[in-house]
Amino acid sequence: MKGEKMNSEYCNVCGLKLDEIPSSFDICPCCGVMWGYEDQNKRSLMKFREEWIEKGCKWFDEEERPNKWDAKVQLAQIGIYIYV
Ligand SMILES: [Zn+2]
Repeated sequence: MKGEKMNSEYCNVCGLKLDEIPSSFDICPCCGVMWGYEDQNKRSLMKFREEWIEKGCKWFDEEERPNKWDAKVQLAQIGIYIYV
C-alpha cells in the first residue's frame, strides 16, 4: 500500500538513519517509537519527540548506540534543531 510519503531513510521522530524503510510496528532502537503507530500523525510524533528529548535523548536499545553519537547532529538531519 502506498500511503503518505515518509521520510523513509530516517526515523521521523529522532532522525536515526535507517538502512531500510522501517516496517510498521517495529521499534526504533534509538528513540523507541513504534513506527507506523506512534508516529502516525504529526501531533503524536511531535509529542513523542519532545518527551524523548526532555528525557535526555536516551537510546531505547543502548547496545545499538554508536560510540560517538550526538542527538543534536542526528536530529538536524530531519530539520530539528535542539539546544543542549
Ligand atoms: Zn527514532
